[in-house]
Amino acid sequence: EAKKQGRNRYAFFTPELRERAVRRLSMDNELRRAVEEQDFVLHYQPIVQSETGSLMGVEALVRWQRPDGTMVSPGEFIPLAEETGLIVPIGEWVLDRALAQLGEWDQLEGEDLTMSVNFSMVQCRHGGLPGMVDRSLSRNGIDANRLVAEVTESDVLIGQQQYQAVFDRLREHGVRVAMDDFGTGSSSLGQLKRLPVDILKLDRSFVRDIASSSEDEAITGAAISMASALGLKVIAEGIEQSVQRDLLIEAGCRLMQGFYFSRPLMAEDVADLIRTGERLPRDDS
Ligand code: C2E
Ligand code: MG
Ligand code: MG
Ligand code: MG
Repeated sequence: EAKKQGRNRYAFFTPELRERAVRRLSMDNELRRAVEEQDFVLHYQPIVQSETGSLMGVEALVRWQRPDGTMVSPGEFIPLAEETGLIVPIGEWVLDRALAQLGEWDQLEGEDLTMSVNFSMVQCRHGGLPGMVDRSLSRNGIDANRLVAEVTESDVLIGQQQYQAVFDRLREHGVRVAMDDFGTGSSSLGQLKRLPVDILKLDRSFVRDIASSSEDEAITGAAISMASALGLKVIAEGIEQSVQRDLLIEAGCRLMQGFYFSRPLMAEDVADLIRTGERLPRDDS
């Protein structure tokens, strides 16, 4: 009977599935190697004061740099890293590199920036996250209030209790917390009031159609008013056109991020921005 079941199960293992499993396994091995070799780089996307165009901070975004030089985007390997637990060492590397970079930029003549870092729920569940964050902050000589920990709304809703425990502690230590991709999950007002959150990052799906859809404009406006009523800051994500910026300014949004202002940059390009104090978007972009 067991054998029969086994054979039946095997029948579902189509060549296509088999190929996918093999590909995953080899990507898993490659990713393990990448963690050992630290084959990752961070790019930094500006977060901008929308009315003046001045740089407020950056968000660190990880890329996997394969030995052949090709870059793998986080969308392609973070889910696998979460499943295998490799997100724990990767996340630790990301935080430490980002804070070390912030310390280097602090040496420059110019404004001191904030650093936003993405955290996965798997890292929260793993335990030890607040301690890891504390150690990285002190190792790099960075004040906790310059770090923003981003977690997606859907991750928060899945792991509410763990999230609450971990992020309450981070906030007690002065780290600010942002709910990423806000609007794609379904947090209630009551939840938002209770949860440890300082900043809402309005998902780019709302921003995308804001100029053509009066519904999206209304939803966005309501989310911004609600956030300010709750004492939260809002960062709008995915601004690609000046018309989107203008409508969002009208709706009361002061902080923005998106290709319109700047794509994610290499560290040297951020250093240039700090040194020159240039406003975004740059004239030539
Ligand atoms: P996210 O945190 O919401 O980051 C914003 C993503 O949107 C980035 O993609 C960014 O390049 C892209 N983006 C920014 N402005 C625009 C725009 O105007 N238009 C469009 N179409 N896209 C824009 P990226 O770098 O591919 O990252 C994707 C996601 O991967 C991130 O979404 C984040 O959830 C995750 N991720 C990135 N780095 C890390 C990390 O170090 N740890 C963890 N756990 N997740 C990360
Ligand atoms: Mg400085
Ligand atoms: Mg983010
Ligand atoms: Mg986002």
